[in-house]
Amino acid sequence: MEEDVQRIGRELADSLPRRTRHPVKAFDDRAMELASRDGELRAALFRLVDVTPACRSLDDLARHLGEYLSEVDERTPTLSAAMRAADSRAGRKALGAAAATAVRHMAHRFIVGESPEDALKTLRALHDDGVLTTVDLLGEATVSSAEADRYAARCADALQTLAGAMASWPGEPETNLSVKVSALTPALRPEAPDLGRDDAAARLRPLLSTARDLGAHLHVDMESLDSLETTLGLVFGLLEEDEFSDGPSAGLVLQAYLRDSPDELGRILDWARRAERTPPLTIRLVKGAYSDHELIEAQQHGWSAPVFESKADCDRNFEELTRRLLDARPLVRVAIGSHNLRSVAHALAYAGDTDLEVQVLRGLGDDLAHALAKRNVPVRAYCPVGDLVAGMAYLVRRLLENTANESFLHEQARGAAVEELLAAP
Ligand SMILES: Cc1cc2nc3c(=O)[nH]c(=O)nc-3n(C[C@H](O)[C@H](O)[C@H](O)COP(=O)(O)OP(=O)(O)OC[C@H]3O[C@@H](n4cnc5c(N)ncnc54)[C@H](O)[C@@H]3O)c2cc1C
Repeated sequence: MEEDVQRIGRELADSLPRRTRHPVKAFDDRAMELASRDGELRAALFRLVDVTPACRSLDDLARHLGEYLSEVDERTPTLSAAMRAADSRAGRKALGAAAATAVRHMAHRFIVGESPEDALKTLRALHDDGVLTTVDLLGEATVSSAEADRYAARCADALQTLAGAMASWPGEPETNLSVKVSALTPALRPEAPDLGRDDAAARLRPLLSTARDLGAHLHVDMESLDSLETTLGLVFGLLEEDEFSDGPSAGLVLQAYLRDSPDELGRILDWARRAERTPPLTIRLVKGAYSDHELIEAQQHGWSAPVFESKADCDRNFEELTRRLLDARPLVRVAIGSHNLRSVAHALAYAGDTDLEVQVLRGLGDDLAHALAKRNVPVRAYCPVGDLVAGMAYLVRRLLENTANESFLHEQARGAAVEELLAAP
């Protein structure tokens, strides 16, 4: 099989544009490169991104930037110039404008529109290029019931808007929405998973009915480990209800960075066997986006790390779970969520067919998505929709990921040889 992995990986690599740009380089080539090496600068940039939507004026924004940069010990000429600019009123205006434009520009690479209507143009362009989509309404970590109600209402509205528009597109694509449990309830507590589950269920149930009536797919994302039990309980519980025994199409996410993920997969497959539901549950396999959070939380409590601490361990586990998932078809439908050529080529080689889906994040996996679509591999782009404030947590996760030295996209952008990129973990 390794020969097939290498062959498919090389073919995919060859079909990518010659110089795949680093997805977050739009922010500032040098700043991003430096941020990957310098922890203090990285922190300063994240604080800036975090504070941008709350700044009332360019002056205000530049003042923050100046203060954040003053914590960076090692200053390049560009940084020193930026700090000098922050000392004068005129300088601050220019610096603030540049920073605001940069943050917005970067956000727009990942976020396809402020509303579902806004997003339709991009979704249609992807559809015309053979790329399927799933829409994610930005917003997470809800703190009040009113906020959770608003999120659920936005989801219902998005399902209607998207299904209405897509019905007239060639091939009548299925509407696909990804939702987050932390946005559906303010009551997520790891020590009381039933509380959050029941509260979220009251908002997810009507969404499932709407999705079923519209022939849409509803996917429940997976967040940090403290919400795992609630999320599994919620999805299993609702899909077992008589009303949903044969629809809508639904799915959940398995995170390969979790040491316990092989057992989680066992639980999911046992449930699928018992439930005998049609259409089968879709499992999106990803590595996991909350690694820093999990490690710090464990350290704080003196627990052992729930996630793998070496990238190779995580990648090997991803491949093992890929094979188990593909072997379990047609009990489940399989989606491989990764931008890593090796992980994707491994899945395609093992599947030996196209009865799987590859999923990528908009703004990060665009080139890969187009290369896969050309090979007639079903591929779906995850498209966040919302405003800059709602998008900050999402944006910061993507930045963290892309300035991490071991990230595949970082290695690829640094020009690593294809043999290195495709090496078995
Ligand atoms: C369509 C789609 C949907 C997604 N949905 C979710 C979701 O619901 N929940 C979620 O958590 N994530 C989700 N993600 C994000 C995903 O978990 C990854 O963060 C992201 O895809 C990067 O992984 P990669 O395979 O593309 O890149 P790679 O560079 O191959 O892998 C990066 C990942 O490897 C792991 N890693 C990095 N360094 C180490 C280390 N030292 N030790 C152990 N592990 C390490 C981390 O998980 C890191 O995110 C989604 C991704 C996609 C494409």
